[in-house]
Amino acid sequence: MKGLKTCFKQKDKSIIRAVDGVDIEIAPGEVHGLVGESGCGKSVLSLSILRLISPPGFISGGEIVWEGNDLLRLDNNDMRKIRGKEIAMIFQNPQASLNPLYTVSQQMTAVIRLHRKISKKEAKEEAVRLLKMVQLPDAEKRMKSYPHELSGGMCQRVMIAMAISLQPKMIIADEPTSSLDVTIGAQILNLLIELRRQFNISILLISHDMGAVSRICSKISVMYLGRILETGNKTDIFQNPQHPYTQALLDAGKIPVHSHPAKSENNLIKGDIPGSMDIPSGCRFHTRCPSVFEKCYNMEPELKTLTANGIKVACHLYE
Ligand code: SF4
Ligand code: MG
Repeated sequence: MKGLKTCFKQKDKSIIRAVDGVDIEIAPGEVHGLVGESGCGKSVLSLSILRLISPPGFISGGEIVWEGNDLLRLDNNDMRKIRGKEIAMIFQNPQASLNPLYTVSQQMTAVIRLHRKISKKEAKEEAVRLLKMVQLPDAEKRMKSYPHELSGGMCQRVMIAMAISLQPKMIIADEPTSSLDVTIGAQILNLLIELRRQFNISILLISHDMGAVSRICSKISVMYLGRILETGNKTDIFQNPQHPYTQALLDAGKIPVHSHPAKSENNLIKGDIPGSMDIPSGCRFHTRCPSVFEKCYNMEPELKTLTANGIKVACHLYE
């Protein structure tokens, strides 16, 4: 995607720029980690890719090129064909993403039959096969369960089974393990990696968890207040982060998690993350940057490729 912008119109007519000119490239079969603090626009970005932003939100610019077509220019019908079938999504809270009123079997067969002309019986068999593939214990028995009868980890396996049922080329996984305990979370990540290996699916993993990202991703993009500040190969970035923000995140060892940006108790990185309604002028990280200098206050740095290692970084220190 290139220059992607997603805004939200406030009651007082002011505009929040949640995604503010994002460039990311994801190759087939690549596992790309998107990291950043709460409120930096990661989830809005992922919903924008599938055009699932609803008013007062809107995509105000840029392009999302998928197999030669700009998704932002497709009509609704063509977009529906892409959603789920080519690009699938797994959400943060699997229990809430499943419909509480329907059994696993009902939900899975409905999804499978939406895009494939097969009988109910065949769809059920396919559902069981997929549930076994995602290692859901007692797959046959679980077909009759309602979401509340399953643990969070089991629900996430069902979500993944639904996501892969249409053989997508890409999965967007938005914090897929954050509501799960550590062991289960690790199993879910392993499962994603196994599926990637088997089907050459690309994965966009949105995460707070530097550990998870470093374990399974080959590329990383670091997002801050709606923009990518650094992107490149995981090893290069982990061994030798260039942007002061990435350096701070890696020094901290984890990304501070806070429910409301303005009430952050984060002392890992100096200062609170500003709200996206008042993005600082110049370099948007300047209010927290230890290396800030004159130029940073007024001029926004562009994402530029470093010749040394191919990392792209948006910081005046590298010009
Ligand atoms: Fe810090 Fe300036 Fe670089 Fe922004 S541009 S990260 S303020 S040094
Ligand atoms: Mg989020």
